[in-house]
Amino acid sequence: MSERKVRVRFAPSPTGPLHMGGIRTALYNYLFAKKNKGDFILRIEDTDQARYVNGAEKYIVESLEWCGLKIDEGPSKKNDFGPYRQSERKHLYREYADKLVASENAYYAFDTPEELEEMRNLAKKAKMPNWQYNAISRNSMKNSLSLSKEEVDKRISQNQSYTIRIKMPRNVDVRFYDEIRGWVIVNTNNMDDKVIYKGDGMPTYHLANVVDDYLMKISHVIRGEEWLPSAPLHVLLYKFLNWEEFMPKFAHLPLILKPDGNGKLSKRDGDRLGFPVFPLEWIDPKTNDVSSGYREKDYFPEAFVNMLAFLGWNPGNEKEVYSIEELISDFSLERVGKSGAKFDPEKAKWFNQQHLRLKSNSELAILMKQNCSYDVSEVYLEKVAELMKERATFQSDLISEKYFFDSVEDYDEKTFRKKWKSDSLSLVNEFFGILNNIENFSATSIESSFKKFIEEKEIGMGAILPNLRLILTGKGMGPSLFEIAALLGKEEVMKRFNEKSTFFQNMFLKKQNESR
Ligand code: GLU
Repeated sequence: MSERKVRVRFAPSPTGPLHMGGIRTALYNYLFAKKNKGDFILRIEDTDQARYVNGAEKYIVESLEWCGLKIDEGPSKKNDFGPYRQSERKHLYREYADKLVASENAYYAFDTPEELEEMRNLAKKAKMPNWQYNAISRNSMKNSLSLSKEEVDKRISQNQSYTIRIKMPRNVDVRFYDEIRGWVIVNTNNMDDKVIYKGDGMPTYHLANVVDDYLMKISHVIRGEEWLPSAPLHVLLYKFLNWEEFMPKFAHLPLILKPDGNGKLSKRDGDRLGFPVFPLEWIDPKTNDVSSGYREKDYFPEAFVNMLAFLGWNPGNEKEVYSIEELISDFSLERVGKSGAKFDPEKAKWFNQQHLRLKSNSELAILMKQNCSYDVSEVYLEKVAELMKERATFQSDLISEKYFFDSVEDYDEKTFRKKWKSDSLSLVNEFFGILNNIENFSATSIESSFKKFIEEKEIGMGAILPNLRLILTGKGMGPSLFEIAALLGKEEVMKRFNEKSTFFQNMFLKKQNESR
């Protein structure tokens, strides 16, 4: 048999914003598809109308776009396998539910929600809290297996509402190979007669998911671990529908755990623990509650994607900083782990910092220009980027120092108290005098004048450099002061000197008077 074309799908339900785990599932599907020259499909699983949330599908699409995960097929990119929203495929599913009934692998169940609830309550009272509709209990329920044919026909002709349930066989081992976990074996005695078709004329997740995977020729199902318990039922559906040879391969991804490793990272953890769990900000349409997103928190999508890739996968070597193209070329399901991956918000920042450093100054300048409230040129911002890059985690850090754009009122009190002494004014006066005479106001010439100056004066750097920094930036620390001075230009440097040197001297005299 020739190898099947790789076709994978990301199949979210639009029940709210996609959290990090969802995007990671999409990412692994995407990487696997692209690595194997296959197709990456977006299918919206919206059969559960009661849980439908307005805006959720749009959010999913925007998140994938932000992350750069381009779909080959989906609601906005049609191909022969559409439609790609299950609600638009409604007419397709009944046929398969009927086939399952005809082959006696499924049956009609007439029990009302109230009757089912009553049954559960009775079981609870009898100290059997986990009552299930299954091979044993089905005989005492109202269904096409327990009722006579006449009774069933009568109920159907009276338009009584019914569901279709799978008829789980007794004591059969269902086996399937999971690409990440190896062989999984589940006995049907531990499985219930799941509803596959509902009274409202909609399939449930299980039937729709399997039928669509089959019709869309899906080769690999890559999804979160929470779907592992459903997989044996899906395997049986392939068998009952005689589709075994078309059954996709399964890969269930490990959970993403809270930073302390205690349980699954949940939607609620994010803003409670001070980091986003969503790719994009989400405003709940009902409550107007805002959940923060990586995009709005100034993360680069490529850093977010790189971080996500490492939550469950590793390349088997030391390399950690990856572009999406590199991820595609190194990704494999064999290197996805079984055990949960602990999310580390500090590591997320680290990835952002690494990706920031990979960008050229001109790329950064374009981004800075969009967010900078000062009217400066991109060329100027490129130079600011050069000086700030090593100290920045986010692009907003690059323009966080006001002194690059304007003189600053605030100053570092501690440095001033420690460093401004009785001879400081005359030293800075003299040095700024020298600066004023430099023809070529470059960082190297400023630096060599400075070195010559401290040598002649026989003073250490610490006797003057911190004060020069205070005058030009108000700070006690920062990037090379010679570079900063050259960037500001002679005129601005002399202006700040004129404003600030007397200011610091007056502060100094005032403090001296106070302490007398
Ligand atoms: N609709 C399911 C979800 O919301 C899809 C699970 C699967 O990939 O089979 O995650």
